[in-house]
Amino acid sequence: MSFRLKIIFGVVAIQAVMLLIMIWSGLTVLRDSNEQALLKRTETTAKLFASTTQSAVLATDLSALESFVDEVLSNPGIVYARVLSKQGVLAEGGEKSVLARKFVADTSLASTANDGVFDAYADITISGEQYGRVEIGFSTTAIQSLIENTRSKALLRALFSLLLMGLFSWVLGHYLTRGLNALQLGAKQIAEGDLGYRINVRGKDELAQTALAFNDMSAKLKHLDEERVKKEAEIHLLNQALEQRVIDRTIQLQDANKQLEHQAMHDTLTRLPNRALFHDRLRNTLASAERSQKLFALVGLDLDMFKEVNDTLGHHAGDLVLQHVANACNKILRDSDTVARMGGDEFAILLPDVTDLERAVHVAQRVLEAIKEPLQIDGRLIEIGASLGIAMFPQHGADEIALITHSDAAMYEAKRHKKGVVVYQSEMGEGKSEAVALKGELRRAISEGEMLLHYQPKIDINSNVVSGVEALVRWQHPRLGLLYPDTFINLAELSGQIKPLTQEVLRLAMKQIREWSDLGHAFTVAVNISAVNLQDKGFPESVAAMIAEYEVPSHLLELEVTETAIMNEPIVAIENIRKLAHIGIQMSIDDFGTGYSSMAYIQKLLVAKIKIDKSFVMDMGSQEKDEVIVRSTIDLAHNLGLKAVAEGVENQAAWDKLRELGCDSAQGYFMSKPLSAEKFMEWIRCSPWGGQVGADIKKVGS
Ligand code: C2E
Ligand code: CA
Ligand code: CA
Repeated sequence: MSFRLKIIFGVVAIQAVMLLIMIWSGLTVLRDSNEQALLKRTETTAKLFASTTQSAVLATDLSALESFVDEVLSNPGIVYARVLSKQGVLAEGGEKSVLARKFVADTSLASTANDGVFDAYADITISGEQYGRVEIGFSTTAIQSLIENTRSKALLRALFSLLLMGLFSWVLGHYLTRGLNALQLGAKQIAEGDLGYRINVRGKDELAQTALAFNDMSAKLKHLDEERVKKEAEIHLLNQALEQRVIDRTIQLQDANKQLEHQAMHDTLTRLPNRALFHDRLRNTLASAERSQKLFALVGLDLDMFKEVNDTLGHHAGDLVLQHVANACNKILRDSDTVARMGGDEFAILLPDVTDLERAVHVAQRVLEAIKEPLQIDGRLIEIGASLGIAMFPQHGADEIALITHSDAAMYEAKRHKKGVVVYQSEMGEGKSEAVALKGELRRAISEGEMLLHYQPKIDINSNVVSGVEALVRWQHPRLGLLYPDTFINLAELSGQIKPLTQEVLRLAMKQIREWSDLGHAFTVAVNISAVNLQDKGFPESVAAMIAEYEVPSHLLELEVTETAIMNEPIVAIENIRKLAHIGIQMSIDDFGTGYSSMAYIQKLLVAKIKIDKSFVMDMGSQEKDEVIVRSTIDLAHNLGLKAVAEGVENQAAWDKLRELGCDSAQGYFMSKPLSAEKFMEWIRCSPWGGQVGADIKKVGS
């Protein structure tokens, strides 16, 4: 029920009850007073009638009495009149039915008007003696109808006043609930989202105050909502900008990653896939060939007389030759084939779709012919020769190592006998190829202590003092003499021997640090670690364990890693480099400039030094481009807060240039070749770099 109806019903109900009480009591009073008045009138009329008839009763004048009775009866309301003597009725008149009934008010003057007739009498006395009496009856119907009349009038009035009251309370209810309704409407509007909705306020009462407060609240809500919408729009814009930036960054990253991937997997000079990519493709080809039981061919390729070209015509000519070989291979081979530069003048060709030997030989011969096409360098025409060895899957090898070593063996056979293209034969065995033979001996050589270290000093260019050494592994082979890392590091990586080899090198380096420390020399010893070590999650822990075992300060150990080793599989590599750096080991990027040089990455690596690759340093004097590279690498290193180290410093001019460019330290044959520990100590004693700060290096250079 609405508030207004409640007010109306409430007021009307109260009013009705009050009116009923008033009507009831009014009527009661009315009746009582009418009865009193009737009583009095009857008494008076009876007494008057008695005194009027007194003399006629004494004289028993019946006709006079009759006319008195008629006179009395002419009074309105009187229904009968009777005059009595002691002997009986003298005269009477009135309605017959009333006369017939027995007089009811025998004993008293007043009597109740039960039958609608009010009876009264008066004695006729003269000087105290009673002679008779008069009786009269009044009809009470008049009173009754009067009361009834009054009651219906009162009821009519009450009804009217109730109606009036209803109307009044309706107006009051409307007035009172108008404010409430407005508030209710306002709340509804707000609930429906019409923030800022205002109630029209009239007056100053409590409802008006509430309405004002409501308007305030509504305005505040609207303001807050506007703020929210504004903020949302801003956030939306920000989000859009952010999204765009993320998209841009993602595209940049994708591009960078693609570039990175490409550069990590390709040789910069020839743009051919590198060793890592080649192994990857070989593994995939092997897996799919095994599944589909297909044949394929692997060709090893090595240039003849490349060293001579390099030595006589210079590095630049060497580079041109390598590019010529790459072009020749690309010209002959299909897109599905892979030709890779494995290092130096060594190439490998994977022919996944060549399923018979004859065809493999044909392709190899065509490649050889293309390589042999004369090449013009510095105005001279030169012809490059090559030796190619073919191994077929699965007849010449069922796994990666067998295929590579057997194509190598065939290639060596071709080289030895100058045959051009040779197919692997089982009698060539593994022993026929030096590389294959060495591979078989590696494990034993490592465990029997045939590995030793030579140390090449690094000189601080500012102070001319030895700041550290690079440890370079050598293999004291019982039959072949001292072997250099280029001949066996690749083999060790290929045959899974690189981990024990690195452990051995690290062990020898620690021993040496310990020894020199005991003699009072605090040289940093740099050890080269391979990509395989960088991918080994246990590597940092094993280095830490060794440092603890030999009790050497961790800052005296430095580890050199090449960019390509990092970029091959950057996630684990970076994690390992960080761990090693946290142990306190100095990390240095080796051969910088030959691989992918993402400065963004290097910045994250916690490395201490960048080693500029010797190919740039060595050619700095003759190639302006190389000098630019060296200069910018030094600047770059310094900008990143890193030290720049130049390797391959072969002469005074290079040293001077590096000093001019602000390079921090230098390493190279100009100062010293790699030396055994004893020879190095001797060198230290005799050379001006061996501790004599500020010595004139020109003396030594000459
Ligand atoms: P690298 O790390 O770039 O080492 C420097 C190489 O340049 C050494 O050759 C050194 O003898 C040579 N070198 C130094 N100064 C000059 C110079 O003025 N002119 C010229 N032309 N060459 C100079 P090395 O000792 O034959 O080592 C070759 C490569 O073998 C090293 O290159 C390194 O990548 C790898 N290697 C050496 N020792 C280890 C090792 O213990 N473990 C691993 N994984 N790799 C090693
Ligand atoms: Ca190195
Ligand atoms: Ca190097």
